[in-house]
Amino acid sequence: MTHAVLSPSSSRRWMTCPGSVNLERMFPNESSSYAEEGTLAHAWAAFALDPENQPKPSKDLPEVHRPYVLDYVEFVKRETEGGLRQIEFKVDLLSITGEAGAKGTIDCASLVGNTLKIIDFKFGQGVLVSAQRNSQLLIYALAASEFFSMFDEIKEIEMTIFQPRMDNIDTWKISMPQAEELAITVRAKAAEALAFYRADPLPLETLKPHVDACRFCRAKAACPKLRETGAKACDFKPIADEEPVPMLGAELMSPERLAENMQLADFLEPWIAAVREEAHRQLMNGNEIPGFKLVLGRPGNRQWTSAQEAEEMLKGFKLREAERYTFKVISPTQAEKLMKVGRIGERQWKRALEIITRAEPQPTVVPETDKREAWQPTAQSTDFSPITN
Ligand code: SF4
Repeated sequence: MTHAVLSPSSSRRWMTCPGSVNLERMFPNESSSYAEEGTLAHAWAAFALDPENQPKPSKDLPEVHRPYVLDYVEFVKRETEGGLRQIEFKVDLLSITGEAGAKGTIDCASLVGNTLKIIDFKFGQGVLVSAQRNSQLLIYALAASEFFSMFDEIKEIEMTIFQPRMDNIDTWKISMPQAEELAITVRAKAAEALAFYRADPLPLETLKPHVDACRFCRAKAACPKLRETGAKACDFKPIADEEPVPMLGAELMSPERLAENMQLADFLEPWIAAVREEAHRQLMNGNEIPGFKLVLGRPGNRQWTSAQEAEEMLKGFKLREAERYTFKVISPTQAEKLMKVGRIGERQWKRALEIITRAEPQPTVVPETDKREAWQPTAQSTDFSPITN
């Protein structure tokens, strides 16, 4: 299946920045190791939910990922019980985005009573994904409704993001008429993006930077509008020698200015990372970048090429067993696993709990929209003592 230009997963971007589909054509769609681990987790989840129709993955799921996949599988079974369920459901997107031949795949779509349920399994742990007004989920729901409405009337749509590695289960519920109303905007935005897909030259005003749109855009290292945003932010005026150094205006240190700067940081961090990545890619391809070159970093840690050969060799060196091996006590997480399979009894586990400790969580700055409760620093939690006159 070829990747849709107006894919549901990138809809947040092309609905905000219609010119991005044009600019992105010049950048390869490379898979990352994060994407690969997500693909494997999805494949195992699909197999567990629908073994008759989904192939068994040829690669094992890493043990650390198994609880997340099992949680998702349990959640889907619970949510879709008694309903008509489709796993890895292929849908045609033409009627929603207007792109001929474009298809999408929904992790789970189900009709339970008169409610259409869309469940999207997000395996990432970098960015918390909200289901609220999520255009990817909406497009999936609109596309799936064409199939499910053949079986019963759809009155309500429930769209869920299941993101276990960030402890995030978020559901957005709307009525079918509300979905149809929102579909008008999606269709209009899709038509705008498609109209500029092959435009040459591309009108600059079709590029509209927005932190959520630019974050995953493949073109950000070369995007003139994003660069302009960064350049504007860095537009400081050098102070001439003879001029007195001005006092910093209160507005430069105001909470409002800091809030603006935080938003800029959200724009610029991914841009800087993308520029560095692009420079690395170009140099690796043998291209020159004035003022920059590649050097080799430190070699990796030394390892035995074969652990078995090393064991035999060290034994041959007449080293004692304690000299040949290192032994480590298992971690609390490994002990908990033994408790779950009955190797550690309940009373023993209570004793173990008494000597388990963990570092206190540290405060971190997040947008106000983050669903976690705000944390208030206490007098002891800051290094500052109140200033008294
Ligand atoms: S980087 Fe941002 S502004 Fe530039 S094309 Fe991509 S989404 Fe649009």
